Amino acid sequence: MARVQCHHVHGEKCPTSSGRPDGLPRGVHRGGGACCSSKGSKCSSRRSIEVTVSQVHAEQLIPDSQCQRSTMYVVIVGAGPSGLLLGVLLARNLSIKVTILDASTQVDSNPRAAHYAPSAVYDFHRAGIIDDVRKQGFTPKGVCWRLKDTTFLAGMGREPEESEYAMAVLPLDRLGPLLVEHFESLPNTEILWGHKLTGVKQDGNTATALVETSEGENKEITGDFLVGADGASSAVRTALFGKEYPGETLKQQIVATNVYLPFDERHNYWDSNFICHPTDWYMAARITPDGLWRVTYGDDADLSREELVRRQPKRYEEILPGNPKPGDYKLVSMSPYKLQQRCARSFREGRIVLVADAAHLCNPFGGLGLTGGFADVGSLYDCFLGIHKSELDIDILSKYSDVRKALWRDMIDPMSRENFHRLWDPAAEKKRDEFFKVCERASADPVWGKSVAGSVMAVRHDFTQYFKSKGGDGIGGFVDGRVEERESKE
Ligand SMILES: Cc1cc2nc3c(=O)[nH]c(=O)nc-3n(C[C@H](O)[C@H](O)[C@H](O)COP(=O)(O)OP(=O)(O)OC[C@H]3O[C@@H](n4cnc5c(N)ncnc54)[C@H](O)[C@@H]3O)c2cc1C
Repeated sequence: MARVQCHHVHGEKCPTSSGRPDGLPRGVHRGGGACCSSKGSKCSSRRSIEVTVSQVHAEQLIPDSQCQRSTMYVVIVGAGPSGLLLGVLLARNLSIKVTILDASTQVDSNPRAAHYAPSAVYDFHRAGIIDDVRKQGFTPKGVCWRLKDTTFLAGMGREPEESEYAMAVLPLDRLGPLLVEHFESLPNTEILWGHKLTGVKQDGNTATALVETSEGENKEITGDFLVGADGASSAVRTALFGKEYPGETLKQQIVATNVYLPFDERHNYWDSNFICHPTDWYMAARITPDGLWRVTYGDDADLSREELVRRQPKRYEEILPGNPKPGDYKLVSMSPYKLQQRCARSFREGRIVLVADAAHLCNPFGGLGLTGGFADVGSLYDCFLGIHKSELDIDILSKYSDVRKALWRDMIDPMSRENFHRLWDPAAEKKRDEFFKVCERASADPVWGKSVAGSVMAVRHDFTQYFKSKGGDGIGGFVDGRVEERESKE
């Protein structure tokens, strides 16, 4: 394991460099800040992390003794949902130190993800955040498809699933702060806001983020691994592979709005509704327990961002039931988006790894974007933990890249395109009718319906199966020649 190379800022001597008789890992200060773990090196004490171990739920923490190596240090670029979830998962292990750096000064509040599939909920459990997510959010009742005049076409999942992995709904601008709170409650963590990544470098043992702060200071932050969780325009990806992000921008543009408009009371809408129409397609879904709705609709491909924003009242009146005027609803936020289907050439280069939007993109219909992103996070967490425990070799990260890319290509990209075309494309009618038959069967046979809802779990890939103690070879295969189910099907 590489020694952690500290980012020397204030030049303090690390007071914990000679080991911890109190049982805490090196770098964890009782009541103080996180620091480096390398012997005799200097602390990074830009921000004192006011946390004591007693503040953290003891059962959440995984003690040092389970890890055979010295402290691992992971630097994550991007305090979006993927970077924060990875940070929480890793930092629950007392011998892993995590720094998250973000160009911005706060969590992004634009209207984006709100629906988290069972596969994501699985990792919410592992991160210890599920109770808070369920407390602040809710489990949705049913998804359906309708015509513009609200005529019901098909639907499923009308009753909320009772499974512990049932879908959770919570808008990203509420999930983000919740993740920050959990992350900061763990020892050995820090978030450096106003830290923009400008480049990367690495050698055989370490990976370094080259950073410019909002005060114009240049810094280098070095860890054992660097993770690019810095979104669609990822500076980490650009530093590794240049500006090219293979894939395409779709012709249509969308406008995502958050609005108080009681579709359920006024129009008998379900919690999630997809409206099929050649031009006036949209999605209306309740996203908070207090009745905030997400309405995402399409508009002309050639309009500028400003025109899209200006046309919002007109589009609402044209496409929504009852033709509401501005006085009929309370608009909370809005943002236009281009739709992209893209996947990076590789998700790994040496000790630098990409996750979520930095690695792949898809249109948001069906909520597969962050679903795929969180599945990357779950896989990468297993990989880092396996490397840390000497259960996996570092080249497992190439397997991570191959598996995650294949899942985007074979599952996320085609499914998200199908979800989108179902809304407006006459050429997709046959597939749409077949899909609606699946909905009918799922409603008539709830047990089968539950298995359909749970099929999204296939987006996950369990890297612990390659652990040496489980008969794995540590790089993504098996010592006894077992073949993965997924590979054997191909
Ligand atoms: C309208 C809409 C609805 C959606 N709904 C869903 C849904 O219901 N379910 C779902 O699964 N997905 C959904 N998605 C997709 C989902 O929102 C994204 O996949 C998700 O936000 C990506 O998270 P991320 O952590 O990868 O990146 P981001 O959320 O983009 O975070 C990246 C972070 O990196 C920081 N950053 C950027 N550049 C730098 C730099 N150079 N240096 C340092 N920091 C940097 C940014 O400030 C930001 O905080 C939706 C998307 C849209 C547009």
